[in-house]
Amino acid sequence: MENLETIAIRTQAERTQFQEHSVPLYLTSSYVFDNAEDMRASFAEEKERNIYSRFTNPNTSEFVEKIAKMEGAESGYAFATGMSAVFSTLATLLDSGDHIISARSVFGSTHSLLTKYFPKWNISHSYFKVDEVDKIESLIKPQTKIIFAETPTNPGVDILDLEELGRIAKKHDLLLIIDNCFATPYLQNPIKFGADLVIHSATKLIDGQGRVLGGVTVGREDLIREIYLFSRNTGPALSPFNAWVLSKSLETLPVRIERHCENAVKLAEFLEGHENVEWVKYPFLKSHPQFEIAKKQMKLGGNIVSFEIKGGIEAGRNFIDNLKFCSRSANLGDTRTIITHPASTTHSKLSKEESLEAGITEGLIRVSVGLEHINDIIADLEQALKN
Ligand SMILES: *Cc1c(COP(=O)(O)O)cnc(C)c1O
Repeated sequence: MENLETIAIRTQAERTQFQEHSVPLYLTSSYVFDNAEDMRASFAEEKERNIYSRFTNPNTSEFVEKIAKMEGAESGYAFATGMSAVFSTLATLLDSGDHIISARSVFGSTHSLLTKYFPKWNISHSYFKVDEVDKIESLIKPQTKIIFAETPTNPGVDILDLEELGRIAKKHDLLLIIDNCFATPYLQNPIKFGADLVIHSATKLIDGQGRVLGGVTVGREDLIREIYLFSRNTGPALSPFNAWVLSKSLETLPVRIERHCENAVKLAEFLEGHENVEWVKYPFLKSHPQFEIAKKQMKLGGNIVSFEIKGGIEAGRNFIDNLKFCSRSANLGDTRTIITHPASTTHSKLSKEESLEAGITEGLIRVSVGLEHINDIIADLEQALKN
């Protein structure tokens, strides 16, 4: 089994005596022991087995094993949300006094973590802009421990060069942690380029149908062990039910992503020729500033297309109001196409300067291209752009 499609389907929890074909849902908070010695040996970790579902559960273990294999990782741990994965991973590895270097374009709550909460524990950060990877080395301090980035970025779909990030991290003995949410394990495997850990919000394309929240961190065994011990004590574990849903979702991830990307390319090409559109950004369009890097590290361009509508904030709001079936929602990576206008919503509290640094312009529209028929998606955007 080396192809992702097969791994995603055939990695399964052990069959029970009932010989079920599809893996059952293990809704149990704890597990029983044969006798006192069995219990002692289990707690002493002389045996690898389930003790309590805050530690491990057959459904979460199956989900983690799949993601780890798909990412080429040694091990992993699953979390209740993507943010609990980000928080627990960083909180495990950073001590008071440490410093982290991160791309400025990170998920909003990750930004809050770095700027609002970590300073409480005397953990500092430096940001670099997505097009300034060459400046990272000048930001390194003796206390620097981690380089953190997302690629493609949200909502600007910029691409960071993973090979270059891996090279810098290795040269300076820093940990490289990549939030791979937008690419999924099907399109991009950061560990190949030198990442030590890879994080996913499973809420997005891994679930793919807008149902459950989840997160996961995979990577180096020694680091995951520390993350596991931290999490086992602090309690951000993924629920077995959500793990079961997410593991089933992974079975169809490769085919879903293929179609998401096919639809996204067609939409990007349509938008690129439209008179009310200033510019379009999609990693696999030749006009994308990091097209070559995207081609090097991604299998396909992903499902997020962003574009600048002519006319700024008002035009952006009108466009959103005129959509007929595309959803106005904050999620992404759903079967349903979702459209947002960051300047009037998710990023409305930022100053103009901060917005531009995060890559948010006034007429920026982010489209999470779904699995409806592409002709219908294009028709909805076309009529909304006309009005
Ligand atoms: C959504 C998202 C997260 C947070 O995930 P939740 O499951 O919502 O907690 C983290 N990183 C990226 C890039 C995301 O898109």
